Amino acid sequence: PVGWARRKRRRGAGERPVRDLLGETGGAVRIADRELPREELLDRASAVAAEIAGAGAVAVHATASAETAIAVVGGLMAGVPVVPLPPDSGPDERAHILNDSGAALLLAARGTDTGDGGPPLIPIDDLPASEAAAATQGPAADATALILYTSGTTGPPKGVMISRAAIAAALDSLAEAWAWTPDDVLVHGLPLFHVHGLVLGVLGPLRVGSRLVHTGRPRPEAYAAAASEDGGSLFFGVPTVWSRLAADPASAEAMRAARLLVSGSAPLPVPAFERLEALTGHRPVERYGMTETLITVSARADGERRPGYVGFPLPGIETRLAAENGDAVPHDGETPGELHVRAEHPFKGYLNRPEATAKSFTPDGWFRTGDIATIGPDGWHRIVGRASTDLIKSGGYRIGAGEVENALLAHPAVREAAVAGTPHDDLGEQVTAYVVADGVTERQLIDFVAGRLSVHKRPRVVHLVGALPRNAMGKVVKTRLGDLAP
Ligand code: ATP
Ligand code: MG
Repeated sequence: PVGWARRKRRRGAGERPVRDLLGETGGAVRIADRELPREELLDRASAVAAEIAGAGAVAVHATASAETAIAVVGGLMAGVPVVPLPPDSGPDERAHILNDSGAALLLAARGTDTGDGGPPLIPIDDLPASEAAAATQGPAADATALILYTSGTTGPPKGVMISRAAIAAALDSLAEAWAWTPDDVLVHGLPLFHVHGLVLGVLGPLRVGSRLVHTGRPRPEAYAAAASEDGGSLFFGVPTVWSRLAADPASAEAMRAARLLVSGSAPLPVPAFERLEALTGHRPVERYGMTETLITVSARADGERRPGYVGFPLPGIETRLAAENGDAVPHDGETPGELHVRAEHPFKGYLNRPEATAKSFTPDGWFRTGDIATIGPDGWHRIVGRASTDLIKSGGYRIGAGEVENALLAHPAVREAAVAGTPHDDLGEQVTAYVVADGVTERQLIDFVAGRLSVHKRPRVVHLVGALPRNAMGKVVKTRLGDLAP
């Protein structure tokens, strides 16, 4: 029958083994000006799948390119765990990830200089299209699809094993929460080796059946051009992207054409939220998650959006708060506690770190996020910060760094601010601020926040610095702030 033959041809060679992840039809990616409709992407990926079938794990030199999408989808097709490698990682980080993951092969665009050592290189392009993968049965739902390394904000990146079922469930929940449909054009310029850029940003549009326009880098002008010229409707960004956009009124104006702006991966400061709204007309949707659990909490496209809050648990996710001694913390919107998560598809564990994996769960089976949060009686979640670096213990008080950062960022001259506790003889820790600002003195900043913060929360020391230490995701690496102080 003609209909069957047509349908068969339209679906790429390796469609069947990735249907559990990428759905049935639709979706296209444009990355670094190379446009790949779904069929072509799957054809190219099936060639990769045939080449790597049976390997234990494969690394992908994850540049912002269409080749990265081909390689990752090829790995998913072959059922081989894929390890995305940051392309500009230094030799140490690269060796750490390659050794730790035990990747047997490295997929990279032909001619890539991947440095010395490491596993044999397979060029992603030039592989003959293959029908071989089409015959194979899809891998099990709990099989490891990706080994993603955490952002390394608090220590060396840890390899997180992520199952196929967890990816599928998270993407479906987000599509529902954000009203993400095949009619959307997703735009972002995030790196393709973390959850945000790769799982949400590449697998997301393929599963939903919508188009991706990747801007190479997340520059405000590129986002503006995608909004006005490519029909970009759904935009992803980390807070630094949104702050930069809010500092560029012409680009921000173009974003009025968009449907939804989503912020995640780090806290979106309240002043940045407000500036963004004033310039673009959009109240961004903020969501919270981590490599281990994927995205767990988000505001909804059809609901209220509150600056400083990250919304509600997604379907299949439960949350609770716990004190350091494990006691339950009331969901009163004020009392902070460590956020625990229980998910239908739980975290599979850190690769090669059984002890760290075991420690990350409570005796009754909840995942400890290491983040401090409050939960209101109405269910709204607010992330206070990381237990390890964002909770300052000063003179018997517990102070969230984010609240102090928001107060500093409200000053018009302040471009960036990071707050941490530094040792103090009497107080234990003192509130110390590192600020990037023009034409303002330390004294003026201390006076400015005095009008906004109670005495114990005010920074006792302010360092004016040229830039904050950030990782590839634009997150402030607080453990390196001490290097900035004179
Ligand atoms: P590492 O675990 O290696 O130190 P990392 O925790 O930054 O690095 P990721 O898994 O990429 O690695 O990031 C997850 C963390 O990012 C969360 O635990 C949380 O601290 C932070 N985060 C994510 N989204 C938000 C948000 N909307 N608001 C505040 N913090 C967020
Ligand atoms: Mg972490």
